[in-house]
Amino acid sequence: MLLSKYFLPVLKELPAEAQVISHRLMLRSGMIRRQASGIYSWLPLGLQVLQNIINIVNHNMNKVGSLEILMPCIQPASLWIASGRFENYGKEMLKFQDRHDNTLLFGPTNEDMITEIFKNNIKSYKDLPKNLYHIQWKFRDEIRPRFGVMRAREFLMKDAYSFDIDQASAVQHYNNMYLAYLQTFRDIGLNVIPVLADNGPIGGNLSHEFHIQTENGESTIFYDKKFLNLINSKSLDIEKIQSLYAVAEEKHDPTKCSLAPEELASSKSIEVGHIFYIGSKYSKVMNAVVNDKHGNLVPIEMSSYGIGISRLVAAIIEASHDDKGIIRPINIAPFCVSILNLNILDSKCNELSRNLYAQLKTNNITVLYDDTEERVGSKFATHDLIGSPYQVIIGPKGAIKNIVELKNRKTGNIEELDIEVVCGKII
Ligand code: ATP
Ligand code: MG
Ligand code: MG
Ligand code: MG
Repeated sequence: MLLSKYFLPVLKELPAEAQVISHRLMLRSGMIRRQASGIYSWLPLGLQVLQNIINIVNHNMNKVGSLEILMPCIQPASLWIASGRFENYGKEMLKFQDRHDNTLLFGPTNEDMITEIFKNNIKSYKDLPKNLYHIQWKFRDEIRPRFGVMRAREFLMKDAYSFDIDQASAVQHYNNMYLAYLQTFRDIGLNVIPVLADNGPIGGNLSHEFHIQTENGESTIFYDKKFLNLINSKSLDIEKIQSLYAVAEEKHDPTKCSLAPEELASSKSIEVGHIFYIGSKYSKVMNAVVNDKHGNLVPIEMSSYGIGISRLVAAIIEASHDDKGIIRPINIAPFCVSILNLNILDSKCNELSRNLYAQLKTNNITVLYDDTEERVGSKFATHDLIGSPYQVIIGPKGAIKNIVELKNRKTGNIEELDIEVVCGKII
C-alpha cells in the first residue's frame, strides 16, 4: 500500500473524548471514528486489525471442528419469550417494533436462536456432537459505554455453541474449546489468564473467563503465581492449569483460598473471552431434545463460547504500546513493514524504496510505503504511532551506498544494512 493513496487520518492532538490509552491511540492513528455513544466506524487501519483477528479465530475454530454459520443481528422477540429470557435480560437489550407491530431486538447474544436452529434440524444422538459458531455484530445498551470499542454498545463477537448427548461429552467438548481459546490468544500474540467465573444470566454452573492483565482494566483477577509458568509453557496441561487457583473478582473468597499472601497475585484486567458450560437450561425450556441410544428423548447438553473480537483490538493496544504509539504483535499487524522514504525528491531514495516495496510484496509481506512529502520528523512520528513491527528507513546519505536502516518497533533497535539483505531479515 502506498501511503499517498491510503486513508490514514492521523491526529496530532490528544483527542479530548478519550480517557484510556488504547482509545486515544485508536483515534490518533485513524483506526476508528465515533458515530454515537458506543458506536464506531472502522477505518482501513482498524478494520484490517479486526480482519486479522477474525482470520486467527476462524483458523482455530476450524481446527477444533467448529463450523461457521451466520445468524442475523436482528432477532424476533418470540424466541426470547420462548426461552424465558425476554423479561429477565433487562435494559441492555434494544427492542423495537416493525411496521406490522412485531417486536424485534438487536441480538445481544444468540443462545436462544441457536437452540431453535438445533431443535428443528437435529433429532438423533448419531448427529452429535456438533459445534457451530458465527462472528456477528451484537448490541448491548450498556449503561456506561466507554473506552472506545472496549465497552461499546455495538461490538463484534465470535460466539460458538456446542451440543452433546450427555454431561461427560459436554465437559470434554468444553475443555477442548478451553484449549482452543488458549491457542487462539497465543496466536494473536497475547498472554491471557483463564479464570473461573460466574455463569450469570447465560446460565449453567461451569465457566471460565479469559483476561489480559493491564493497568486500565475494568475487571480484577486473582491467581496463583505458579499459573503464569504453566500458561506460558509450550505444551498445555489442562488438568494442571485448572487445578490451580485462578478466579474472577466475584469468585474470589479469601476464606477459601489456601494460598499464602506471597503466592497469590492480583491485577486489573480486561475480559476478552468467556466460555460457559450451560447444560440443559435452554434445551429443556425450548424442548430441544434428541433420541438417545435407547430411543429415549433427552434434552441436549449445551455450552457457549464468546470472544470479544472488537474489544480485542483495543485490549491488544492496552497490552502493547509505548509513549510514541502502538506496538503491534506481528500476527495482527495491518502492515508488517513501513518503508520511510525520507526524501521523495532524491532519485536513489526512490529507486531503493520502490524496489524494496516490490520485493516485500512478492514475498507476501504486508507493507506500507510512505511516499508522501511529509517532513522527516512527522514521518517518524506517524509510523511509530501506527506501530508496524518493522520500519525500513531510507535516507539520501545511506542510499548512495545502498545502505538503509532497519528498525524494530518493539525494541527500538536499529541496524544499518545493505538493502539486499533487508527482506531476508524480516521473513
Ligand atoms: P463485561 O463483563 O465486560 O460486561 P460480559 O461478561 O457482559 O462482558 P459476555 O456476555 O461474556 O460479556 O460476552 C462475551 C465477550 O464479549 C466478553 O468476554 C467481551 O470480550 C465481549 N464484550 C461484552 N460486552 C462488550 C462490550 N460492551 N463491548 C465490547 N465487547 C464486549
Ligand atoms: Mg456485560
Ligand atoms: Mg463479564
Ligand atoms: Mg462475560
